[in-house]
Formats: sequence, structure tokens, C-alpha cells
Amino acid sequence: MDSGKQISGLNGVNRRVVIGAAALGAGALAGTDRARAAPAAAHGSFWPNGARLAIALSLVVETGADPAPNTKAPDGKTYPDLYAASAALYASNEGIPRILDMFDRRHMKATAMICGVSCEKYPALVKDIAQRGHECGAHGHQHDVQYNMERDAERAFMQKARDTIEKTTGQKPLGYNCRGQLRSVNTLSLAQELGFTYHIDDISRDEPFVIPVNDKPFAVVPYTTHLNDIGYFNRGGFAAPFVEELKFEFDALYAEAETRRRMMVVTIHDAISRASRIKAFEEFINYAQRHKGVWFARSGDLAQWALESKESIRQPSAI
Ligand SMILES: [Zn+2]
Repeated sequence: MDSGKQISGLNGVNRRVVIGAAALGAGALAGTDRARAAPAAAHGSFWPNGARLAIALSLVVETGADPAPNTKAPDGKTYPDLYAASAALYASNEGIPRILDMFDRRHMKATAMICGVSCEKYPALVKDIAQRGHECGAHGHQHDVQYNMERDAERAFMQKARDTIEKTTGQKPLGYNCRGQLRSVNTLSLAQELGFTYHIDDISRDEPFVIPVNDKPFAVVPYTTHLNDIGYFNRGGFAAPFVEELKFEFDALYAEAETRRRMMVVTIHDAISRASRIKAFEEFINYAQRHKGVWFARSGDLAQWALESKESIRQPSAI
């Protein structure tokens, strides 16, 4: 068993499985730590270590990586939108520290998908994410779409994100997430060339799987749009129904997990992490932790499992 894996235990009592505290630091998924994180063989279950349901929690860190917001006035001219700019600052001032403290309270590790520019602007904050044992993946350099970039420009954009994240956190990012999940026809090929081992811009399954990219295995750890906090709260959702929705999803997947491999994915964004929403999120995590056999896995752990296991789905091609 490895660091960062947390499996709720028998008789409804939480039993954390945390071994190898040293592996919780920066680089937990790189080099020898990566080997240490290799899950044990499954024993009559669909996941390592007897886990029944895997839950991957993803934190998107994009603070400071957008262009300065503007607003168009009745005079037809464009002016700086300073109120919107203050909303972006909420992520670094309040949202990210709040989320990290909550993860610590729940003794769990997650995956942060981070913009390179956020690393440049808030290096101490991003370093703290890695030092608390979370995986650091890449979310582009600027917070910009890349589906329409020429191949060379897209390569430079992804490479800059990768290098900046590694320099800031000490972790070589293995996971890639495009802005808006909108990838180009070249993104996966470039990701594989740049040393990424998986991406999350796919909503085709409730479990990780493997596709060939550049004739080599590449993992997909699918996303969920309907549980994404942006989609939920930007449509006027309140915190209490958000918990309800998460519990519904959990209950359904937990039931299905009796007969097949199941994974639940929830994504939260740094600027959206208002107190009531993180309280709701924590209530859901607490609920899940009261169930037997729930594995809170970093996305990189799931990708690694998919790539190494003979039981993972091997899809003949990517879309
Ligand atoms: Zn984004």
C-alpha cells in the first residue's frame, strides 16, 4: 500500500491506510516514489487493496493565468473590470488555502491541475500543494484554449507549463487537462512526447482506460462535467443540493461497484471555493469515508494502475 491511499474500513469506521510518510512530499509520483506508489495486486476485487470504489478529487488552479478582465461600457469603450479582477484574487487569498486545509482535515490526497502562469505568480502557494502530498498535473501555461493552436505553438505552450510546474513544485507533471477540456487533434501526441502519461479530457466512461498514442500506451482518467463545480454553481446551484447530487452519484456508483470497476470524479476550482461550497464538499467526503472500501486516489495513481494492470480496458484507438 502506499502513501496517499485512503481506504475506509470495516463496520463503518474510517481506517486510514497511510504508509510511507516521506512519499507524501513533492515528487510523490516521480521516480522511486512512483514505484512505491504501485498498487498491490487485486484480490477478488476491481481495485488494489480490496477497494470497492475509487474517488478522484481534482482541484483546478488557474489563478492569475487569465488575461485581465474587461467590461464594455454604454459609451462603447472597454474598461478594466476591477470587480471581476478581485474575484480572481479570491482563489489565492482564500480558496486554495481553504481547500488544502479541508483535504488535510479529511486526511486525503487529491490532484491539482495547475496553470504554469499560476506557478509563476504564486510559487509558494503552488509549492504548498505539492508539499502537502497532492499530485501536480498541468492545465496549460496561460489559462487559454489550445484546440486551435498550430502543432509547434501547442507544443511550446504545453512544454512551458510542464517545465514551470516541475521547477516550482519539484514534481514532473504526469497528467494533462486542457482549458474547457478542449483538446486539439495533436494534444495527446504532444502530451505523450512531453512525458505525460495520462489526460482527463474525456467523459466516455466511469473508469480509467488505456489508448494507444504514438503507438504507446497512454492512460485516460475521465472527467465528469455534471459534478464540476463551475457547471453546478454557475447555473445558480446552492451548496446543499450540490451535496445531495454528489451523494446520489456516490450511492449509484457504489452499488454498481459490487459487480464492476467504478470510479467517481469530482472537480473543484480555486476561485469558486467559497466557504459554504467547501463545507458541502467536506460533508460529501465525510459521507463517502463512512463507507467501506472507498479509495481516495490521485488521478496519477489511477492512470498508473490502468497502465500497469492486465485488467484495465484497452481501447483500440483514441477519438
Ligand atoms: Zn480551466
